[in-house]
Order: sequence, then C-alpha cells, then structure tokens
Amino acid sequence: MNIYDLVISNGNIVDVEQKRIIKGNIGICKNKICKITDKNIQGKIEIDAKGLIVSPGFIDIHGHIDGSIPCGKLAVLQGVTTAVGGNCGGGILDIEKFFDEQDARGFFINQAQLVGHSFRLREAVGITNPYIAATKQQIEKMSDLLKKSFQAGAIGLSFGIEYAPGSSKDEIMILSKIAEKYGKFIAIHTNVNNPNDLSSLEDAIKISEITGAKVLVSHFVYQYGTGIMTEALEMMDKARHRGLEVSADSGMYSAFSTFIGSTIYDEQYMKKFGWKFDDLLVATGKYKGKRLTRETYEELRRYSKEDSVICFTGIEDEIYEALAKEYVILSSDIGPSPTGRISEGHPQNAGTFPRFFRKMVREKKVLSLIEAIEKCTLFPAERLGLTNKGRMKIGADADIVIFDIDTIRDKAQFPDIGEPDAKPEGVHFVVVNGKIVVNNGELILNSMPGKSIRDLPACTIW
Ligand SMILES: [Zn+2]
Repeated sequence: MNIYDLVISNGNIVDVEQKRIIKGNIGICKNKICKITDKNIQGKIEIDAKGLIVSPGFIDIHGHIDGSIPCGKLAVLQGVTTAVGGNCGGGILDIEKFFDEQDARGFFINQAQLVGHSFRLREAVGITNPYIAATKQQIEKMSDLLKKSFQAGAIGLSFGIEYAPGSSKDEIMILSKIAEKYGKFIAIHTNVNNPNDLSSLEDAIKISEITGAKVLVSHFVYQYGTGIMTEALEMMDKARHRGLEVSADSGMYSAFSTFIGSTIYDEQYMKKFGWKFDDLLVATGKYKGKRLTRETYEELRRYSKEDSVICFTGIEDEIYEALAKEYVILSSDIGPSPTGRISEGHPQNAGTFPRFFRKMVREKKVLSLIEAIEKCTLFPAERLGLTNKGRMKIGADADIVIFDIDTIRDKAQFPDIGEPDAKPEGVHFVVVNGKIVVNNGELILNSMPGKSIRDLPACTIW
C-alpha cells in the first residue's frame, strides 16, 4: 500500500471547479495533491478533518506583506497560502533580489509581487514630490525598470494614484501599455476626489479601454463604499458588458488605514472629504488606540509621519453589496507598520478571511459556502494565471486550509476596542506546499515552505 507524505482524512473536500463538496481523503506527495479518494489511505503524517471543510488555500490578491514576518503570520493563521504584494504603487523595486532572499530564507506562504509605480518607480527615477508629473526622460527610465521587473517575474503593475496625484496621463498610459504587452495585469488604487466622485473609476476603466490591459480596481469599498457603491458597480457592470477586462478587490471593513504622512491626510484633502480629526484613529505608536485632535494630528504629521492611522469613512452594507458581485475578489489590504516589526494595527490584517465566512456565509447569507470559497481560491487563481493553485485536483500544489464553517470567526478589533492582531477561531490546519504551517490552530514558527511565484503564464480569465 502506498504511504503518502501527508494524508488529510474524513474531510468535506471542496472541489471548487465542479462546485461540489465530496467526503473523502486527500493524499499528498511532497508538495502536490496526488490522491483524492473515498477509500482509506495512509500517510506518514495524518490530519483528521472529520466535520471540517477542506478547501484550497486562500489567495489574497491584495496584501502588502512583501516579506514581512508579522504579516505573514497573521495571513497564514487565517488560511491564506498565497498573497500578492506590491499593491498601491508600493512594494519592492528589485523583485529578483527580493524573490532570491525570500526563497533562501523561506516564508510562511507563497508570494507573488506587483511592481509599484507611485512610490517605487517614481522614487527610483528621482521624483520626490507626489504632486508633480514625471518628465519624458523619467518616464523612459521607469519603462525600462518596469520591463526589467516583469522579466524578473513581477505579476503585474500597481498604481497608487492617490499617493502620487501629480502623475500624468502619459506616465500612466505608457506604463500601462507595457504591462499589457507583457500580458500582466494592472492594480489601481484610484484617486478619489470626494465621497461622491466616480470620475476616478471612469479613469481606471479608461486605462483598460485604451491600452487593452486587464485592470483590478483596488480595495473597492475603501474607494467607493461611501454611499455610491450601487453606481460604482453599475459602471463596472457596463464596462464588463462592453467586453473590458475590469475586476475589483475588496476587504471586509469600511474603515481604511494608511500612514499619517501620506497625501491622503493632507489638510485640504481631509476637508474635501469632510473628515474630522475625530474620524481618525491612531493604530501604531504612542497614541495607539486614541482618536486624533488638532494637536496630535500636527505632532504626528511633523514628527511621526510613519504611524498608521485608520479613517472611519465608509458604509458597512456597501461591503456586502460589493462582494456579492462575482468579479469582486476578496482581499485583506494587510500591511506592516513602516518599521516592519509589527502589523499596522488594522483588524483587516488578522480578521479578513474568517470575517468573510462569518458575515457573508453564516450571518448575512449573501453567498453560499462554495461561492465564498470560489472568491478566495479559484477566482483569484484564474486572474493571476496560477493554474496549479486555488483548485482541488490531482497535480495541484498542496496549498490547503481546513476550517470549521460553523465556528470560523474573526476576533481582531479596532485598536480602541480590542486587539487588532487577535488570532481568528475555527481555522484548524493550513498546509503550504505539502507542509503543515498551522497545526490545530497554532502556527509552527519554523515552518516556512512558501515559495516566490515568478514563472507565470499570462493571466487569461478576467
Ligand atoms: Zn491602496
């Protein structure tokens, strides 16, 4: 009798491609799924998954993990086995060096990377002022760097236009055309002008229309969950009907987080949106858990630009409205604090995926279990061109999450109420490339089987 390296037995196995759940056992050989059967099989290591859901590992299509150990831990404890970093124009410029380092050290989960325009490429060509456009020479230089990043295995290009509002149309279109030529997708953090503004979404759709590139609109609820979600989704629907390849990602929260020194927290910007200091909650540093006042705002803007601040701005129901759409993919927007030693202190970092199943499947019943699983496995895998992930089939990478659909829940809270990094409940086992990383809900610290993902075919389904 065959002895498998790892066996997961008696589980409710989710065959996400066939949209069905089968009772049975999975045999894993090294880092691949090599048997799915209702017969008894034996393994060197065995996990009893009786009464539990056995799903492909979750893929976080928007997670600023970028090799951060604290964020990697929080991600895998939720069942995430692959994350896409480098979103919103940030991330890492030297992708090849980053991948080599990650693979040499190991990481909890698999990582794919976008190359970021608004911080990284602009910085690399010497632009320090976010309000000015790049010159012709600078655009040429950025184009070369972008091509180099694609050749090194970057999965796409990211814009954080709100962080570099001076970016010119030329700059954006020339880089987007290169992405299209290389078969890479573009993730866009749009530049919203006010809480009723949809022109930024129109601009994002236009990028796809003009260049033919596949566009993923980032953290859709943070951008448009301000009372205009229905109209925003209508715009996306219409664009998709016209044959444009536009999708979006969104998390499970209506309050976003970024660093206090960012352009988003400029005073004129705050005025435009009608945010008061009291709408802003400090998530890291000496005022952690406190709402801002004029005095602390000025102090942090001057002396502590890197502290994370959460802005309470959105409407909760618009989260569920957005994620009910098939083309809106679940994402966490997880990120480290700028020191990298801790997470940024937003509950999205530790709570997103369990909260998604609790709210969308169990409490609000917006999605069936299979539909919810598709949204964080097969759908992102298809968009990223990951033919061996997000699926439960022979030969697929053995990235698997085993959870209890009756108990899965987030415990992470905003920092004025509780612990933002609190571990969720109900995620029992997480397997990455055939190795157990979360065992009975506990992280195995030295288990780092995650790989960088750099040899990618072009994405197909959008
Ligand atoms: Zn962003």
